Amino acid sequence: MAQYTPMMEQYLSIKKEYPDAFLFFRLGDFYELFFEDAQQAAQILEITLTSRPAGKNGEKIPMCGVPYHTANQYIKKMIDQGHKVAICEQVEDPKEAKGVVKREVIRVITPGTLMEESMLADDENNFMLFLTKTHGEYAVVGCDLSTGEVTGTKISEWELLLEETSHFRPKEVIISTAFSQDEIKGLKQHYPGIVTVREPSSLAEVNSSEWLKHQQASSAGEAISEALGLMYGYLLDTQKKMIDHLQPFHYYETQAFLALDAHAKRNLELLETLRERSKKGSLLWLLDKTCTAMGGRLLKKWLMRPLLNRELIEQRLNLVEILVNDPFVREEIMLLLKDVYDLERLAARVAFGNVTPRDLLQLKRSLQVLPDLVGQLSKLPAADIQPLIKQIDPCPELVTLLDKALAEDAPATIKEGGIFKPGYHEELDRLNQASREGKHWISELELKERERTGIKSLKVGYNKVFGYYIEVTKANVHLLDEGRYQRKQTLSNAERFITPELKEKEAMILDASERALELEHQLFGELRHQVKTYTERLQKLAQTIAQLDCLCSFAKVSEQHHYVRPAFSHNGELVVQAGRHPVVEQVLPSGEFVANDVHMNDRDRQILLITGPNMAGKSTYMRQLAQIVIMAQMGCFVPAQEATLPIFDQIFTRIGAADDLVGGQSTFMVEMVETKRAITQATPNSLILLDEIGRGTATYDGMSLAQAVIEYIHDHVQAKTLFSTHYHELTDLEYQLERVQNVHVACSEHEGRVTFLHKVLEGKADRSYGIHVAELAGMPEHVINRAAAILEVLESKGEAALGTEHSKVSEAGQLVQLSLFAEEEQQEGTRQTPKWQKKILAEIEGLDLINTTPLEALNTLYRLQQRL
Ligand code: ADP
Repeated sequence: MAQYTPMMEQYLSIKKEYPDAFLFFRLGDFYELFFEDAQQAAQILEITLTSRPAGKNGEKIPMCGVPYHTANQYIKKMIDQGHKVAICEQVEDPKEAKGVVKREVIRVITPGTLMEESMLADDENNFMLFLTKTHGEYAVVGCDLSTGEVTGTKISEWELLLEETSHFRPKEVIISTAFSQDEIKGLKQHYPGIVTVREPSSLAEVNSSEWLKHQQASSAGEAISEALGLMYGYLLDTQKKMIDHLQPFHYYETQAFLALDAHAKRNLELLETLRERSKKGSLLWLLDKTCTAMGGRLLKKWLMRPLLNRELIEQRLNLVEILVNDPFVREEIMLLLKDVYDLERLAARVAFGNVTPRDLLQLKRSLQVLPDLVGQLSKLPAADIQPLIKQIDPCPELVTLLDKALAEDAPATIKEGGIFKPGYHEELDRLNQASREGKHWISELELKERERTGIKSLKVGYNKVFGYYIEVTKANVHLLDEGRYQRKQTLSNAERFITPELKEKEAMILDASERALELEHQLFGELRHQVKTYTERLQKLAQTIAQLDCLCSFAKVSEQHHYVRPAFSHNGELVVQAGRHPVVEQVLPSGEFVANDVHMNDRDRQILLITGPNMAGKSTYMRQLAQIVIMAQMGCFVPAQEATLPIFDQIFTRIGAADDLVGGQSTFMVEMVETKRAITQATPNSLILLDEIGRGTATYDGMSLAQAVIEYIHDHVQAKTLFSTHYHELTDLEYQLERVQNVHVACSEHEGRVTFLHKVLEGKADRSYGIHVAELAGMPEHVINRAAAILEVLESKGEAALGTEHSKVSEAGQLVQLSLFAEEEQQEGTRQTPKWQKKILAEIEGLDLINTTPLEALNTLYRLQQRL
């Protein structure tokens, strides 16, 4: 027994098909939501929850609604919060409907399938990921509907899969049912709220001509084919039509790029800073001087995936060098690029069917820039620039077509008409002329009627309900000719009239306007169709423009900050003369940054052990090398006087970070996980940065781990490694391990005051200056003096007690390594420090002075004193 009205029954049967989406149900000028959807949406959208009689007996159900013409802003809000929205339209003319108007869902909008310009960020791709698993092999396919990109690769291990997905920064993740429950759970945890599990569609269901485009995929194996099937199935289900602007599938090898795992990207602050998570202060912020949206997006990709192929890197560098050397032409090019619209997304919207007249106008203007752009490029040395020029396809016939068709002030929507230039279409011109003449007649009517009646205040007006009317104040009504004017509306002090003549003209105007509008609709559809045939050319053009934009950006930054072109060595030699940290250099007042050299090689400088006080600049030095490597392999100049680098295959980092606790793991656990990853995955061609490994646990524990890690890297991994440490004892490793070299960040001390010189010099630091840092931090003098005294005692005793737990000079003058238990063995032997004293000493040693407030320090000191 139907309990609801027929319309509600219709609603419910449609809603059943879309349980995980908010159903926007079109009802006249509104999209309405009902039941639970309404209750939730009212909260999310901050709109009023009302109710509506929906049952046969008049019972009410919850309802809320948004006006059709402002729906986009509400949809965006839903999508931004990770929800899906199913748009259900009336698909027949209500006038012709028998019973309830037919309705259908015409599109499901999800975070990954946004196409509306207003809902997308310009400089950010909007990737959906499709993940499948076949015979233990995973496939990752990313699809950005807004640009048409489809790209992917295969992955053999689960851990690497997660890593690979992070490059895409996906807005939505669709995974096949082939994943295990644990894997699904893992993905859902990793990407909260945006994972959908789906049965993959077979490719046979996919339109064959579309499929042909992706031929490259069939050779990429079963997992990839399945992922593409999953993609098409999902797109068909959400978009309700074949998507024909997707670019051919692009397969990439993960090994083709310098591998940067998520930790490295974060620690090196490539896209955002660690603390504020802001773009400002990141490497992207520094390097991104792009002028187009496409360039902005590509630069991010280049930054996430620096190259490994020497030839490709040199090609980019050649072009950057040319653009550095001719700043005048470069600036001209950049000025022109500023006028180029987002061709990639525009081409996609043309094909998708939601392009606007103004979009096409922008397209025309963008294309018109190209001849000048080619003109500027032609001024540059031909050999390197010619291939780029060849790829710039200015589509002259398209420009002519658009120029002939579009009015110079074409509107932003197709609703209001005025899209086309006079002369483009005869019938349209005729209709526009008729409506213009009608309007002209009416505009003259006021004067004529004033003369005829002698009423100076007579007005001709228009409103939506009555159309055109003649308005006369009540006092003057008696002056009107009897019978000529027909009363239509009475206001408080005026009357409104119509005449048959006026109505006739009005009908003519309305008729002409209506027909003109219809015709414009049709013509615009035809024009869009013609433009659509250029989709592929425009997409290619967009890519070329994006590349040129990125190269100009590199050149500009390189020239501005005096970077040099890096060279690449074949023998593992790494020489950076006067290198700088690109971002810190810009953030510090001009001239304050101290440049530093780095020398590494495979013979005797594989591992640099960096010592020096806190705040001296150790991690800046380490990060700086990694950033120089990344910039070089992206094809950008680097902040140094001279740089020769090997080509690295991977960069691993373990650099202390404030946000480690986010994942719920302890800092020390994260430290160990990251270190493990580095030393198990690195190759001799990798770069590892380890910042104070072992700090998160007890001293001996940590120091032992640190030493073991260094030995392992030295003996087994052979990756180039920068290792900063607090443990001065470790500096003795230089004598034991062939390829370990000590360097330190220098400080000067004058009359008890320490100045950080930020200069990296050969050899180990002689002391750690922790107390001086405490002094700089404003620690009370009392504490400082006491700490200095304690230190003195400790150091004098230290030789025997604490200092040499890792190595001692043997009688023959050779360094011998002691076992980890040496210290205990020794202590049990000769000297007997009372246990209570040892406890106090250990406690003092364990103090984290940098993170101690003066008050806490005093309290601690007091407590210790009580125990003496
Ligand atoms: P550490 O890792 O040794 O504790 P950091 O590398 O974090 O020290 O550096 C601390 C601060 O010192 C930085 O924030 C920066 O302002 C400054 N600094 C570091 N290196 C340099 C340098 N080469 N020249 C000038 N200032 C520097």
